[in-house]
Amino acid sequence: MDSYYTASSPARPSFKPLDGEEVADICIVGAGYTGLSSALHLAKRGYKVVLLEAETVAFGASGRNGGHVGTGMNMDQQDIERRFGREVAHSLWNMSLEAVDTVKELISDHDIDCDLKYGGVHLAHKPGYCKELEEDIAFLQKRYNFNDIEYIHRNRLKEIIGSDAYYGAQWDKASLHLHPLKYAVGLLKAAVDAGVTIYEHSRVQSYSGTPVVVKTATGQITATDLILACNGYIEGLEPKINGYIMPINNFIIATEPLSAEVSTSLIPKDTAMEDSRFVINYWKLSGDNRLIFGGGENYRRGFPSDIKGFVQPNMLKVYPQLANTQIDYGWGGTLAVTLNRLPHFGRINGNIWHLHGYSGHGVPTATFAGKLVAEAISGKHERFDIMANLPSGRFPGGTLLRWPGMVAGMLYYAMRDRI
Ligand SMILES: Cc1cc2nc3c(=O)[nH]c(=O)nc-3n(C[C@H](O)[C@H](O)[C@H](O)COP(=O)(O)OP(=O)(O)OC[C@H]3O[C@@H](n4cnc5c(N)ncnc54)[C@H](O)[C@@H]3O)c2cc1C
Repeated sequence: MDSYYTASSPARPSFKPLDGEEVADICIVGAGYTGLSSALHLAKRGYKVVLLEAETVAFGASGRNGGHVGTGMNMDQQDIERRFGREVAHSLWNMSLEAVDTVKELISDHDIDCDLKYGGVHLAHKPGYCKELEEDIAFLQKRYNFNDIEYIHRNRLKEIIGSDAYYGAQWDKASLHLHPLKYAVGLLKAAVDAGVTIYEHSRVQSYSGTPVVVKTATGQITATDLILACNGYIEGLEPKINGYIMPINNFIIATEPLSAEVSTSLIPKDTAMEDSRFVINYWKLSGDNRLIFGGGENYRRGFPSDIKGFVQPNMLKVYPQLANTQIDYGWGGTLAVTLNRLPHFGRINGNIWHLHGYSGHGVPTATFAGKLVAEAISGKHERFDIMANLPSGRFPGGTLLRWPGMVAGMLYYAMRDRI
């Protein structure tokens, strides 16, 4: 795949497939942020951890995403408070800030060179959204004492964006952005240093029993606990959780490197940018000054044959001045969304843990999920339970990859964006 992240990452270690039988305390399936962070946090607590990855480390969304590390959850805080009450809402908010801090701490503790930058901007693509953005800020300031956020009126937008396509914005100074694959490889190295055993090209085919016996085509791991960290790539591995997530493909392009003058004119504060569309556009500058622009998704197996041509029109609606700028890379990835856009965590039969459904907010939340599950497996499960007890709905159709009602709904909201 034609990914800028792959092209701009240094060589990384590779790992042989599982061959034979092993015993561990914890077996983890999937080596994205969820699996790597779980492995690292558990190994630091002294557990013997084996991580099985069907492809290669960070093959999934963790090696392909926008790299935005936002505060909050993927539901606005007023809504969370209305639905789940003040206490749960405060816990979720605090955990969301801790998630961003956890990313920062891991980067600093393990010297991860991943083009880390600060600030995130959320832009209103219709005038009607501005009031909502302003009210959100007032709510966060008053109820959560969160003051790292500022409303930018239309007459000040030039300070943060070189585009006429928007009407107002939230500027969140506590959010971050980074090179997602370099970050994942940093977590990988930290996990290996902490003693985690990793096998690539080792797709888990089945598991059963207590302790759980986890089987690949060429071997098996017997472990006390199993963590499913497969997110949008889980396919049919665990039927009990299938209906709670829907896989979505989302696409990104990277331009040629831009001059300092052009890049500053597009994003004067070098922040991560996203807009209020249902199918959001999101973008930022890379470490070598390319515009990394995500926009456009589909709800079926397979990516469009021309990803550059699929995403570029969305970029040009924001920045028509880039009409003659070359697009060097185009790629896609699969993420899992839930019905209410909050993560879906839980425990099956006491010793099978699932962490997924970050709904486009997984860079901080999947990293934090690893910390939470390590905490829970070590006996302190209160915070994990807050997440696991959030009510989750099942998608119409029930089973993964069989959700015509949901696809119709997504297409309807996507169409509303254009009106
Ligand atoms: C294009 C795109 C842009 C995004 N942008 C952002 C963003 O800017 N900010 C943000 O916060 N989030 C973003 N996200 C979401 C974020 O990337 C994900 O939520 C996060 O990476 C999920 O991490 P994960 O480890 O749970 O899953 P993944 O990184 O997807 O990893 C799952 C792994 O499980 C493996 N696997 C699956 N089945 C098996 C099996 N049976 N046996 C062994 N291994 C298996 C897969 O091969 C894969 O490597 C984006 C996602 C995409 C696709």
